[in-house]
Amino acid sequence: MPATPAPMTAPGARQRCVGCGAEFAPGDGPVHRYLESAPGCWARYGELLAREYADRAVYPVHRLSVDAYAVQHPGRESPQTIQSAAVHLIRLSLLLEQGLAPERANAVMVEASGRRTTYRWLEPPPVRGTVTVADLDPAAPAAEYVRAVRRWAEDVWAAWQVHHDTVRRWRDERVRR
Ligand SMILES: [Zn+2]
Repeated sequence: MPATPAPMTAPGARQRCVGCGAEFAPGDGPVHRYLESAPGCWARYGELLAREYADRAVYPVHRLSVDAYAVQHPGRESPQTIQSAAVHLIRLSLLLEQGLAPERANAVMVEASGRRTTYRWLEPPPVRGTVTVADLDPAAPAAEYVRAVRRWAEDVWAAWQVHHDTVRRWRDERVRR
């Protein structure tokens, strides 16, 4: 079987992420199973996750970061992506609009995730925010890191504005609090 030819990329060329639109060094590394992204974007997010797991001072924004990444890279319509976008948008709403503590928002999300047949595909907005993982520094001081993740999550949530009412309805109808 012939080897797959390498993409024709000039030296120094960048690879645009289909999810967030940021540009990364070209690569063929792993990506998430259904949250479609450039390999460089997924690798960068891995560095952010490593920081969040290792540093208690930034862990409080870990769930915001998971939600922001998921809905900035929503993938294509499938049962998994429908579920993923719905529950991550619901949790963003709980965290950003209702100010729920992360543990409480997470418990609510777990409950919302159990309702498997109740969501529909939300057509992702063509531009899902202007802040991306490329703007986040995994080595930033904790306070700065926390602010940056919050800014990122707020930016991505705002980009989904056309679906806010639907998400709020799902949040309020299907989530017991
Ligand atoms: Zn990306």
